Amino acid sequence: MSAVPTPPASEAVSPTPAAHGLVSRRHATVAAVALLAVAWGFLPEFTVVVATYIGLYSLVAAGLVMLTGIGGMTSFGQAAFVGLGAYATAWVCTSPVAVAALGGIVGLQGLPWVGLALGLVLTFAVAWTLGAVTVKLQGHYLPLCTIAWGLSLYYLFGNMDFLGGQTGITGVPPLVVAGVSLASPRALGAVVWAVLLLALWLLHNLLDSREGRAIRALKGGRVMAESMGVDTARYRVKLFVLAALLAAISGWLYAHMQRFVNPTPFNLNIGIEYLFMAVVGGAGHLWGAVLGATVITLLKEKLQDVLPGLLGSSGNFEVIVFGLLMLLVLQRFADGLWPTLARVGRRVFRNEPPRVVAQAATLAQRTLPAAGTVVLEARQVTKRFGGLVANNAVDMHLRAGEIHALIGPNGAGKSTFFNMISGVDDPTEGEVRFMAQAMHRLPSRDFAAAGLGRTFQHVRLLGQRSVTENVALGAHRRARRGWVASMLGLDRAEEAALRAEAHRQIVRCGLAALADAPAASLPLGQQRLVEIARALAGQPAVLLLDEPAAGLRHLEKQALATLLAQLRAEGLGILVVEHDMEFVMNLADRITVFEFGTVIAAGTPAQVQTDPRVLDAYLGGAA
Ligand code: ADP
Ligand code: MG
Repeated sequence: MSAVPTPPASEAVSPTPAAHGLVSRRHATVAAVALLAVAWGFLPEFTVVVATYIGLYSLVAAGLVMLTGIGGMTSFGQAAFVGLGAYATAWVCTSPVAVAALGGIVGLQGLPWVGLALGLVLTFAVAWTLGAVTVKLQGHYLPLCTIAWGLSLYYLFGNMDFLGGQTGITGVPPLVVAGVSLASPRALGAVVWAVLLLALWLLHNLLDSREGRAIRALKGGRVMAESMGVDTARYRVKLFVLAALLAAISGWLYAHMQRFVNPTPFNLNIGIEYLFMAVVGGAGHLWGAVLGATVITLLKEKLQDVLPGLLGSSGNFEVIVFGLLMLLVLQRFADGLWPTLARVGRRVFRNEPPRVVAQAATLAQRTLPAAGTVVLEARQVTKRFGGLVANNAVDMHLRAGEIHALIGPNGAGKSTFFNMISGVDDPTEGEVRFMAQAMHRLPSRDFAAAGLGRTFQHVRLLGQRSVTENVALGAHRRARRGWVASMLGLDRAEEAALRAEAHRQIVRCGLAALADAPAASLPLGQQRLVEIARALAGQPAVLLLDEPAAGLRHLEKQALATLLAQLRAEGLGILVVEHDMEFVMNLADRITVFEFGTVIAAGTPAQVQTDPRVLDAYLGGAA
């Protein structure tokens, strides 16, 4: 994409959502944190200890919310990463070898920081490796794999002599920060909660950014996300590493709180409990992690107290009761407890306006090819599925500034051909050229980067996200800011530009009144328009539309035709698969007719309509 600068966006960024309620959410959060901070000094010791554990668990659960709730990858193995963080620091602080080698350099009080660094580096390496191997797995294979390495790491901790075997490592020193010892639970707990709140703030910023949209897009399916230019495998691995690092930090704090480590707290049971916390709290919401960790920790406390009295013996009955309670909760609150709580909260708290800045940055601009240039070309493209030839030596080309229609009966191979020319699938034989580049075996994100925008026959939107969020995803490749910048809030100018661009396309597609509505709340016809707006946000040179008029009413079809004609006038090459003949004949400059995977006719609407083969094979009965 060439970076020809244009004047910064001048339009107003999307309006503030309807403001109900008395207090803003941010103020409520700040007030709650301040209250906790003040109360911290006065809470009874036992409460402080429990709250500190809740903080430690929340940190792990927050990683799982990102990984499972938002990224759609289930992990049972997070406890093992907590263990890596805990064992790394315990070993550095107690092993005679490490103390002798490092103590002289960083001092005894510096050892825990070396332990933290070691834990993070180890976790990064292990998580990246495991992630690269496992996150490509689909369906239930990924959760199964997380169980496998969760177990492996657990047994590794227990079987390493230098880690103390099943007995573990004792004598882990307390943390000392700036000369202040954090030996007391009250002191360390304050640090735990400060770390947790900091992590939540960073994650919140990440989710509320370009990168956050890409992360959420993972749940929309690989094909959709890749078509928006997102490298899904990379994002999945990064998400996996992020969740693991949060777990390792929790483990580091845990080791210096307990002052000893053994393998038990890092076994698979606990891994499952962490997942419970995220799911029960509300796996799609960061605060759900804190809620889930609180509910489950308190519940376990209570059950361990109450059950032996009730049942008159001290078996592990709490595990059974616990499991049954989980079942009940998940039956009643499939999305976890947080969304229910948030619904009540909406009456009291005001929504936050988007974090925007006055000055929007400039998005990368593409210089569109001159009208008449061949932008997309298929040469002898053949696709076989086993014995079935879905596309048979198809030749076709699309020029900038024209609307080209693909028609043909169901099963003729039109959608397959779309996949061939958009990088979703590779042709068995033949060549696809896009913007004068050979695209052999390149993934669809490379097509997107080179200027391909597309919509899907079966609409693929993130239903719970607003129209604006969905459309802004389309502009993903036009901005640059990465995860760290987004976490630190350094992406605001760029984000404003992305939102302004999304807003422009939403207005252009006639959806201005619906910008803040969740995409799933729109009727199908308008969802198709949202997909077009999303494709346009990428400033494409070529637009592929798979049955854009399906599900639209008459007036909506007319509006769509007007929009497509306008885009053609602006120089876009548009390739459309459509069944509505009136729509196609009035709009298209050229038409290619498919039957049984073969092109049986190509030409202007007038030529195609009178072609005897077309009349015979396709329009046969009607003529
Ligand atoms: P159209 O979009 O024109 O209705 P498709 O491209 O969806 O047609 O399908 C063309 C033919 O290829 C059909 O016979 C369909 O069953 C077959 N087909 C499509 N995708 C696959 C696949 N992934 N595996 C096997 N057969 C497929
Ligand atoms: Mg189709």
